[in-house]
Amino acid sequence: MNFSNQLDFALELDASDPLKSYRDLFHIPIQNGAEVAYFTGNSLGLQPKSARAYVERVMKDWETMAVEGHFYSKEPWWEYHEKLAAPLASLVGAKTPEVSVMNTLTVNLHFLMVSFYRPSPKRFKILCEEKAFPSDQYMLQSQVKFHGYDPDTAIVTVKKRPGENAWREEDLLEAIALHGDSLALVLMGGVNYYNGQVFPMKSITAKAKEQGAFVGWDLAHAVGNVPLQLHDWGVDFASWCSYKYLNSGPGNAAAIYINEQYLNRTDFPRFEGWWGTEKGLRFKMEPNFTPMDNADAWQVSNAAILAMAPFLASLDIFKTVPQEDLWSKQSRLVSYMSFVIESVAATAPFDILILTPEYRGSQLSVYFHEHGRAIFDYLMSQGVVTDWREPNVMRFAPVPLYNSFKDIYTLGERLKEGISKAILA
Ligand SMILES: *Cc1c(COP(=O)(O)O)cnc(C)c1O
Repeated sequence: MNFSNQLDFALELDASDPLKSYRDLFHIPIQNGAEVAYFTGNSLGLQPKSARAYVERVMKDWETMAVEGHFYSKEPWWEYHEKLAAPLASLVGAKTPEVSVMNTLTVNLHFLMVSFYRPSPKRFKILCEEKAFPSDQYMLQSQVKFHGYDPDTAIVTVKKRPGENAWREEDLLEAIALHGDSLALVLMGGVNYYNGQVFPMKSITAKAKEQGAFVGWDLAHAVGNVPLQLHDWGVDFASWCSYKYLNSGPGNAAAIYINEQYLNRTDFPRFEGWWGTEKGLRFKMEPNFTPMDNADAWQVSNAAILAMAPFLASLDIFKTVPQEDLWSKQSRLVSYMSFVIESVAATAPFDILILTPEYRGSQLSVYFHEHGRAIFDYLMSQGVVTDWREPNVMRFAPVPLYNSFKDIYTLGERLKEGISKAILA
């Protein structure tokens, strides 16, 4: 399709968008009297309008039933988390018993390391992408040190080639083969938070399994953003937060995926707590742990119901959207955004470069050779919400559930103004 950087054209695309009605299900922040063009759904998704009612239902049950709400409210709290597993399993391509909701992302990664990072002197290395999300790096370093190894030798990071902006699949696969049977674990972000690249999860998983290593994925930037087939790919484990593309609310609960081959086994290590015990026995307060036969066995504490409520509201929206529609709208939105940014860049007096490669989800990371910070400040003052990553990158994430093509047209116009203002200043 030939794109055009004109308002009429953007409005036409909106009119023929099969997901256009979904925008109305979300609160769009207002700035200077108008809805913002929100491009940071990769950082914090917008609030579903329905979320408040889900929270209020829990508040009401607590008000009127107190402790009895655990068992006798319409949506009993002791099994509330179970409602989230099926819709999440569908988004990550897992079987429902392979998914559970608990804790937060980095906490879950630490817990999962108990099960999937058990180094020996021969097999002790962990492979990840260079400059992974900082929390993941801190998690890996502290785990390696905890086991008595040196992060400098135990953590293998795969770099981009000099002068290139994306990782090459062949370099990742070669590194896995090179470290071969010294690799205990491959743990990477499914989508890199900085350049927006979608990693070839299927081939990396297969290569790591071939070397006898465990494979886990941090899906913070991938879930709700790109199609996933964790079970069919043979992924061992994964975890993801829910406040980015899943729109569950700030700091909300995370989820885990555990491949079914590790479920219902007594020889598989795990840190345990009462919420992972077999449901029927949970309140018998027995001295010995009998695990749930699904991923809930990894749950430790009872669930934060007030957090699960808006998360459920959001998943109830996802349930109604055919995933093909999400991915096809996303691909159009991002292609249009790429077109608009490139046409603005073509007339700018300095380099503006899209760093994100073709294998991408909703996010474009854009490098500004000059004036980046001033242009960012201008966009934010004009209701175009984006984010700034040092030293000179802005990330824009148009989200298929609530962004419009008009939002992208608006971005282009404000970008042109911001560039003119910055070079005159
Ligand atoms: C957002 C993000 C996190 C955040 O971790 P929390 O434990 O939820 O604070 C971790 N890892 C990656 C890759 C992320 O994108």
